[in-house]
Amino acid sequence: MAATVNTPQRAFVYLRQSLDRAGSGAAVERQREDCLKLCAERGWDVAQVFTDNDVSASSRKPRPEYARMLAAVDAGGAEIVVAWHVDRLTRRLTELEELIDLAQRTGLRIATVTGDVDLSTDAGRLVGRILASVARGEVERKGARQKRAQQQAAEQGRPAGGRRPFGYASDGVTVNEVEAGHVREAYVDVMHGASLKSVARRWNDAQAFTSAGNPWSHSTVRGVLKNPRYAGLRTYRGEVVGPATWPALVDADTFEAVRAILAVPERRTTLSTARKYLLPSLALCWKCGSDVATGHTRHGKRVYVCRAGKCISRKAEPVDDFVEAVVIERLSRSDAADLLTESGGDELRALQAKAAGIRERLDDLATGLEEGILTLPAVRKSSARLRAELQAVEAEAANAVHTDALGPLVASGDVAETWARLDIGQRRQVIDALMVVTLLKPEAGRRDFAPDTVEIHWKSDQS
Ligand SMILES: [Zn+2]
Repeated sequence: MAATVNTPQRAFVYLRQSLDRAGSGAAVERQREDCLKLCAERGWDVAQVFTDNDVSASSRKPRPEYARMLAAVDAGGAEIVVAWHVDRLTRRLTELEELIDLAQRTGLRIATVTGDVDLSTDAGRLVGRILASVARGEVERKGARQKRAQQQAAEQGRPAGGRRPFGYASDGVTVNEVEAGHVREAYVDVMHGASLKSVARRWNDAQAFTSAGNPWSHSTVRGVLKNPRYAGLRTYRGEVVGPATWPALVDADTFEAVRAILAVPERRTTLSTARKYLLPSLALCWKCGSDVATGHTRHGKRVYVCRAGKCISRKAEPVDDFVEAVVIERLSRSDAADLLTESGGDELRALQAKAAGIRERLDDLATGLEEGILTLPAVRKSSARLRAELQAVEAEAANAVHTDALGPLVASGDVAETWARLDIGQRRQVIDALMVVTLLKPEAGRRDFAPDTVEIHWKSDQS
């Protein structure tokens, strides 16, 4: 008798405990049951079960059992890895790339209870990358327990923890004088008309990188300058809740003036509707942080090019397709409603009323001048302040409108179908509300689309 009797294939089962288990219903016991059932159905031998306790929800914390499992796969211990969902297996794109390498080297297959991911085909790898991008957004959101602790800290004005804020030591309270100097200087410069790009360049030239060690871009500089932390204010979920326990780096007037200035260009991009393509002005260049524009090659292929320099020029269509797929996948998740502001409509009405009030006061100033009750310098001074205030309020209203763009999508039963009916302007609003897209330079000579060269940062991660 020949030895070609079907030997059952060997599977490793991988389980991971995480903080969001209540939401996805994927407690370890449930994961184990479902995974073992899947192995039984397909006739696979369970060679070993690996379990990591990853409750910190930090994507950077090492997972010893996961590492041990990959080493065992490499040593020929199993042909299949079974997990409950791709996001149990990998929470970072770089991890997924490692897994893809391993799959290509050893022929490893990935099976999940929620559907198989075939890392041996382009299509399967694309699906894996889409899922991993969405999983990353889930890491960046905080678990319920953590949220409550944060709220309490906020009420007491204590730092939120997490990544070290630029300008301060890692306790979030002690001032880092060198960085603080850069921050103060930037507020003054922007108040006098300097661009965010020029600030980013100066900080990068001075090697004063972000606390994650990355170079600055105009949008990350904007994030710093708009952060009320630098005026000594504590925020919680985007709202100022009171004075903070750390020292301010700038006074309240400087902060407000800069915030009003920064509100203007942001409004221009978010309200722009006369667009033909998905990502111009929204996506950023990895190298210089500038936004990208649409261009065409000599052969008529549409490309995204860095607006500031010649850092990148890459095919636009596959990028658009990938970003749209990630959005649809994210909004199809059961917790997508969390992305909506609780009272978007009320907030918008309140802001509109506030704007109307400011416009009335501007009219009053003009009348006062005509009637000789007020002097020109006095009117100039007051109206400049009111106009800045009005711009800030209008920008806030624009943001409230655009968070609203998510509502119909999330509420619809079929996100993909609703998405298909949106025009480009609406899609851009949704993307802008959800994420920051950064385009990296594809490897030289690579012709197929590499999704890992499109970086997606979820905005819900902001603290
Ligand atoms: Zn560039």
